[in-house]
Amino acid sequence: MSDNQLRLVWIYPDLLSTYGDQGNALVVERRARQRGLDVARLDVRSDQPIPTSGDIYLIGGGEDRPQRLAAERLRRDGHLQRAVQNGAIVFSVCAGYQILGHEFINDLGQREPGLGLLDVVSVRGDGERCVGDVLGDIDPQLGLPPLTGFENHQGVTHLGPTARPFARTKIGRGNGTGDGTEGAYNGTVFGTYMHGPVLARNPLIADLLLKLALDVNALPPIDDRWYDALREERIAAAQQPA
Ligand code: GLN
Repeated sequence: MSDNQLRLVWIYPDLLSTYGDQGNALVVERRARQRGLDVARLDVRSDQPIPTSGDIYLIGGGEDRPQRLAAERLRRDGHLQRAVQNGAIVFSVCAGYQILGHEFINDLGQREPGLGLLDVVSVRGDGERCVGDVLGDIDPQLGLPPLTGFENHQGVTHLGPTARPFARTKIGRGNGTGDGTEGAYNGTVFGTYMHGPVLARNPLIADLLLKLALDVNALPPIDDRWYDALREERIAAAQQPA
């Protein structure tokens, strides 16, 4: 972070905002401002270049065709990879998660190259679409409380040797591989299948992103009553028999 300003980049709202993941940008922005930080939020449309000077980049889920267009444009742009080389933090959801991997199956049934920022490969699951509330435990190395979210995807994501699972599911399918993993991360690049928006349901993940950006171990506490009530409600809903 330079100039005491946190630069938050929301990638391609015109293509990847279908599942309400834009809420993730609102949560990070608000929690940063509540800590007295000056935040510059930049929403970058798919016909605009991605800035390389961002501190935190967020990318959401989307339908199969917009997902292919987003992957093509991000590959052509090349700036997100450069930002990561410079230490930027990226948090991606669902279609965005698949795009950050090595490849995924596009809407034409073809293998579409991703950005290779996560050591994962996504394929099309041949079973039922994964839909529903998810409950899981986040990698203990990240020191976060249980994960709550909502999944809605056909893709199945396999982790390569260098990716760490972001979480292990107790309820729900996550990566869809049957091994109980959910999401992945490599260094400061994170991917998850969770909507919700996931950072509204798990505000301490937003704080993790802020801590990484600020290079601090702790942040001043804030009143999380509303978030806690939402968490409690959604965790109870996940535990209801189907
Ligand atoms: N199109 C992708 C899939 O179904 C991602 C869906 C999403 O972003 N929710 O796997």
